[in-house]
Amino acid sequence: MKRLLKRVLPARVRTYLQRRVLGGEGIHADGHNFLLITLDSCRYDTYVETATPSFDRIGAPRKALAPANFTFPSHMAIFSGFTPGDPLVAESLVNPVAGKFWKVGQTHTRKGSRNLMVLDCKNVIDGYNKAGYATIGSGAMTWFDSREASSAPLTADFQQFYYPGNYYSLAKQIAYLERSIRLLADDQRFFAFLNVGETHLPYWHAEADWPRGENLCLPFDPQGTNDAAKCRARQSSSLAYVDGTIASLLEAISLEETHVLICGDHGDCWGEDGLWGHGITHEMVMTVPLVYRLAGGVEPS
Ligand SMILES: [Zn+2]
Repeated sequence: MKRLLKRVLPARVRTYLQRRVLGGEGIHADGHNFLLITLDSCRYDTYVETATPSFDRIGAPRKALAPANFTFPSHMAIFSGFTPGDPLVAESLVNPVAGKFWKVGQTHTRKGSRNLMVLDCKNVIDGYNKAGYATIGSGAMTWFDSREASSAPLTADFQQFYYPGNYYSLAKQIAYLERSIRLLADDQRFFAFLNVGETHLPYWHAEADWPRGENLCLPFDPQGTNDAAKCRARQSSSLAYVDGTIASLLEAISLEETHVLICGDHGDCWGEDGLWGHGITHEMVMTVPLVYRLAGGVEPS
C-alpha cells in the first residue's frame, strides 16, 4: 500500500492520507532490543573526567544539550523521541533534528532526516508495546514512584516497572532488570529503561565514604556549606560506582541484538553564576553526555 501511494500521489497528499485516513505512519520498530540509561543530573565534564570502562564499551561521549532542565520534562521529551543532542552537527541520532532514535507521532523532522524507528503512538513505550516488545523500566528519582499520580506519564505505559524507593539502590535496579530480561522468551524483544539516581544530588553511592544525606549543593547556599569541589568529586565517584555496577547488565544483554543509549537528563550548577542545582536553564545544567551504540556496532545510515 505504501509503495502504491508513493507512486501515484504527491508527497503532501500522501502524508495527509497516511496521517488522517490510514492512522499515522505506523509502527516500525527495527527488531532489535533497546537499552536506555539516563544518568540523572550527570554533567558532561563529570563524565569526561571519570574513568568509565563499562560505558566505554558502548562508545565515546558526545557533548550534547539536554531537552529540558529537570527530570520530568527531560524524560517526557526523551520518551517522545527528543533525546539529548548536539545542535551543531547534522548527524542522525547525535542531533534529533537530523534524525531520531524514535520518531513519535507527528513530531517535526527536517526534510531528509533519517530516523532509526517510527513509533507512531503516544510515546516510545506505547510504541514498543504495540510493536510486541516487552517494556521494562526502573527509575530512581521520585518522578518514577508509581505511588505518586505525577509519575503516570513516565511509568504507566511500561508493562513492568520498579521504583526502588530511593536514589541510591542501583544494585537492586540492575538485579530487577537482569531478572526481568532473563525471564523473557528467547525470541522476545524488549525495551529496557534505567534511570540512575546515584549521580543525582546529594551524590552518594553504596561504597561512598561520606555521609549519605549530606548535600553540599543547595540553592542559595542557606547554610553556607556548598562546596563545588566536593560536588565534583562526589558526582565523579558516584559515576565510577555506577559504571562498575552496570557492567553486569551490559554483559547480560547481547550487544549484537541491542541498541544502547546512555545520556544525562540534565546536569547541575555548582556555583557557576551563583547558581546551584538544576531546574535552571543554564549551560552547565543543559550540557550532558550522550553515548550510544547500535546493535552489532553498525553505523547509522
Ligand atoms: Zn533528572
